[in-house]
Formats: sequence, C-alpha cells, structure tokens
Amino acid sequence: MLLFGCALASRAAAQERAIPFWPDEVPAALHAQVDGTAALQTVRELARFHRVQGTAGYAAAADYVRQKALAAGLSNVAIESFPADGVTRYAHFRSYPGWKATFATLEEVSPQKRPIAAFPELAVALADYSQEADVTAELVDVGKGIDAMAYAGKDVRGKLVLADGSLPAVHQAACVERGAAGIVSAAPNQVTAWSGDDRDLIRWGHLDPYQPNNRFAFMVSKRQAEELRARLSAGEKVRLHAQVRTRMAPGTYDVVVATIPGSDPAAGEVVVTAHLCHESAGANDNASGSAAILEVARGLATAIRLQTLTRPRRTIRFLWLPEISGSQAYLIRHPELVRQMVGGVHMDMVGGLLSATHGTFHLSRTVETLPHAANEIARAWFDHVVRASSRYAERGGSGYDGLTWPGGSREAFVGDVRKVEMGSDHQVFQAGGFRVPMVYFHDWPDVTIHTQKDQPENLDATKLGRVAYMGAGIVWTLAALPDSEAPTLLRCVQAAGGERIARALAAEGPDAPLLQREAVREAAEALGTVATLWPSVAAAAREEIGRLDRRLPAGPVAGKGDLRVPVRSRDVVGPLDVYYFSYLGALDVGKLSHRDDGEVLAYEAMNLVDGNRSISEIRDILTGRYAPVPLPEISEYFDVLAKAKAVSFR
Ligand SMILES: [Zn+2]
Repeated sequence: MLLFGCALASRAAAQERAIPFWPDEVPAALHAQVDGTAALQTVRELARFHRVQGTAGYAAAADYVRQKALAAGLSNVAIESFPADGVTRYAHFRSYPGWKATFATLEEVSPQKRPIAAFPELAVALADYSQEADVTAELVDVGKGIDAMAYAGKDVRGKLVLADGSLPAVHQAACVERGAAGIVSAAPNQVTAWSGDDRDLIRWGHLDPYQPNNRFAFMVSKRQAEELRARLSAGEKVRLHAQVRTRMAPGTYDVVVATIPGSDPAAGEVVVTAHLCHESAGANDNASGSAAILEVARGLATAIRLQTLTRPRRTIRFLWLPEISGSQAYLIRHPELVRQMVGGVHMDMVGGLLSATHGTFHLSRTVETLPHAANEIARAWFDHVVRASSRYAERGGSGYDGLTWPGGSREAFVGDVRKVEMGSDHQVFQAGGFRVPMVYFHDWPDVTIHTQKDQPENLDATKLGRVAYMGAGIVWTLAALPDSEAPTLLRCVQAAGGERIARALAAEGPDAPLLQREAVREAAEALGTVATLWPSVAAAAREEIGRLDRRLPAGPVAGKGDLRVPVRSRDVVGPLDVYYFSYLGALDVGKLSHRDDGEVLAYEAMNLVDGNRSISEIRDILTGRYAPVPLPEISEYFDVLAKAKAVSFR
C-alpha cells in the first residue's frame, strides 16, 4: 500500500491531526457549520426552476441564491448581468440569445386521441430554443435524420419528423433544407455502461441557439419513439398537433456574486464556483454544486461571525454562473479580478447517491500546466473524509466522527483524486488568457444526467455535507492558512513532488527523460505557488526549487522536429469552445480528436502557447505531463489552429 506523501510528511510535524496543516479545532469548526441536510433542501428549492441560460427560470433561481447569500451574511452580494443577444462578444466568444418559454403541448389527434408531451409540466419535453408554432401534421420517421439518405423517397414538407440524430443537425436537414414543420426526438443521452437500459428517460435537448429561425422539437423517451416507429412502419398514418408558445429573444447571462472579504487586499482572492443553469429538475447537474458552494459560503461566514474562525487573509469570491458562457463573460469583463485570483474550487455534480446515479465522486487536480499547492491541500481534505467516513461505516460512531447528516447515507465516501477532465467552468478559468488554477469536484457517470430523472431524491444529504465540508476546508486553507502552519504545507507539497519524481524515475522507454524532466518541473512549479501564497516560507521553498533545478538534465532532452513558434491571436482569450460556441466550427482537428485524451491535450496545447515555446516543446511538455503524443498529431492541430486564425507562427 502506498503511503501518501503528505501523511508521511506530517507524521513528524503533527501527530494524528485530521488535516496535517491544521489544528483539529479548524476542521471541527468547519464541520460544526456545514449542513448537508440544508444543502439538500437548497437542491430541492433550486430544482423547481427550469434554469436554462438566459431565461426567466434561470433569473428566478439566481434571485433565490442571491437572497440565500444575503441571509447567510455574505458581503457584496449582487447579480451581474451580461448581454446574451447573439451579437455581444466576450473576446472570441459570440454570445447566443436567451429564450422565452411559456407553454407547449404535443398530442396525437388521429387515429388515437391522446397527449404526448406537455411543457412546462415536464420541463425537458420541449427542446431549448424552440419557437412559436401551431401545427397539425403527419409524423414521418426519418431515423437519425441527419443525411440525405434518411430522406430518400420521403416528403417531409409541412410534416413532423421523428428523428434521433443531434437536434441542430436534424433541424438543418429536415426543417431548413426540406421544409419540415418540427421535430419529435429521442436523441440518446451521454454514453455510459448503462446507456439504453432505461427506455423511459427523456433527454433534455436543444436546437442551435445561433439559428434565429428555429422551428421546434419535442423530446420523447426511447419507449415512446419505438412505439411511434412501430406504428408508422406498420403503415399507420399518425397525425399530431403541436402548440408552442416560445421564442428566442435577447437575454442576459446572470452571475450571482458574493464575497467573504479578506483582511489583506494585496493577498489576492480565492474563487469558488458552480454553474447554476440547466433544465429542471437538474438536481445533481447542477443544483447540487450550487447548493454545496452556498453551504461552503454560509458555513464559513457563520464560523467567522461566531469567531470560531478568524477573518481570512484572502478574500473568498463565490460565483454562481451560467455554465461556461457565464464564466467567459465574467472573466472577460473583470480582468482586474482575474489578476487577483490565486486559485479556487469548482463544483459540478457533487451529490449523487451511488445506488441511484451509479456515479462516483472525482476530485480533479488543477491542469498539469498549472501545478499548484491546491492539489495537496485538496488531497489532505479528501483523504480525511475518506478515512473518517470508512471508519464510521465499519464501526459506527456519531456526528463529526463519520461526517454524516440526518436523513443521509452512512456509507464510506467513494471517490478518487485524478487528473483534470474537461467539461465545465474550470476549463474557462484555467484557459490561456485567464490561467486561474482550479480543482474540480464532479460525479461521473450519472445515469440520470440531462434527463427528467435527475431529481433530488437521487441525492444524499451526507454526501452533500461531506463535499461542502471538503470544499470549505480547501477554500479555507487557500484563504487563511497562517504562516505558523505554512511549513507543514510546504513539506506536503515537497513530498508529493518527490513521490511524482520517484515514479518518473522508475519509468522506462523513449519518453522516460521527458517524464522525469516534467516531474521535476511540476514539483518546482507547485513549490513556487507555496512561495507566492505564503511569503514566510518563500525562502525555504526557493531553496528546494534550487535543489530540484540542479536535478534537471543539462541539455535539451528532445524538442526538435517542429520549431515553429505559435503566438496566440489577440482576439482569443479563454477556451476555444465556449458552451454552444465552437471557435473551430466544422474544421477537423485531425488525429488528436480520435484519442480519449485528445480534448484535454488540444486544450492544454493551446494553453501552452506563449510566443516562446515551439510546437516540439509543447509536444514534449504534454508527453511529460499527460501521455506520449506523437509530434505529427500536435503539428497537425496547430495547422488547424493557424487556419482558424487562433494562432499565427512567429
Ligand atoms: Zn454540469
């Protein structure tokens, strides 16, 4: 069994502390204020709102969070709104409009008379960005409905199509090119081991928000689609009546902001984020993260008020955002805050019961190009929760011992710490142009994601409490760790770096020297963040960095082959893809897209563009920090980036 570096380092420093760099009063003070049961209640409240970005439902949820933040005694509570109109740009990202949705119904009028779907009673029944219609027409099965073959010999003009392909593509092929009146869809959800098992899942769908002339789409279950399909193929003529009272309209991306002011304005800010958007109920995705960070905020503010914790040195900024697009808008509009942000925590899907969602918890480290003390801080709090919860599950106990909450589960906390994964706001914060290191909490998979079954009853008060407690601990450490404890943290970061270097030294093969070089560099960079954030140990950290630097190989280990030096276009700030917006559009990124890790490699390749590194050097860093990647795959990707004018070559 591997003994984790931090536990080893702390043994000498502090016997049996729950968290090596805190006296036990601090985790106890956090635990006393963080309430998993209250977090689950917040999830239930948020789940009532259909929280699609740029809609009245989202605005109502934002106002609810604003009021809760005020009641929690947070400072600078406000909702900041950013135009979302299809015109306003946030760097390269062109906003897409909002959506006004009142009601919609789909019913069969002949041969049977029966309702099929009703919005807003079932929020996912109507695809986002559907628009005004009142049509009675025949239903035509077009399979996936995205290419010409699907329509061969079929006249869909003025009719409704039953199609399972991606909605924007079906809309283009059926409505735009062939005059169909609308779509009935059972487009499948995210792929998991359980995909297709539950034939009654109805997926949350959306049309292209950049297409101002959208018709409409109703979402049905696989079972409903199969039944309709069987009747159509048996020769029945099925006529449906669709009524839709909705339209796309200029809206706003609304960001709820609240802070806990720090005592030293020059010490920077810690940022805590969750996306507030998505369909109703959207309980795990992402009422859970929104509720958990609210609980972090409320818990910390209360402990400070009760003086069980003292005011932190750094300001803590909480943001509830429209996913990705809201983060992009906020960071582009606040470069002065980006400069202040020293790191943070992002939560997206954090409350699922394993037995209901089949999802386990993952704590993703900061991206490998931003090594940070936050990773070892997060690891220490994570290990503590795993230890305490499994001891409790095995032997029982009470309260703080097991980190359980009334009404919640009593099982051990199941999760892991892993490298970064893509797909939420941390991707914006850490992207080139911003570069704010974030650890990322997320459940994956979740068999209910983006369906009508993502409901509060699948969530667990105990898990929400544990996650909020862990989040509060990480945030509190980043914001408030005193100088007296900084040497212990330094030893933890040093030990983790040492462990990584030791593993790299054991590596074999042609890339081993790169693995070793990058392990040493990452260890040094992580120590550098300790030096910056805790000046009292800066000298000791720099001494260790000097020792590490002397271990770096004397000459270049690789680095030849493609010496072009990419320079980022001034217009591109943040990630290339921003929610529904794709900077590269239909351009094929080549072989990189066929790899499992292609998305993160592409993202990090762009993050490594600094106007000095060559493409070969970027490839070497990716190989050393992620996985061996052939140079031609990276060169090919940069050719595409250059073609799209995301970069030019110096
Ligand atoms: Zn999410």
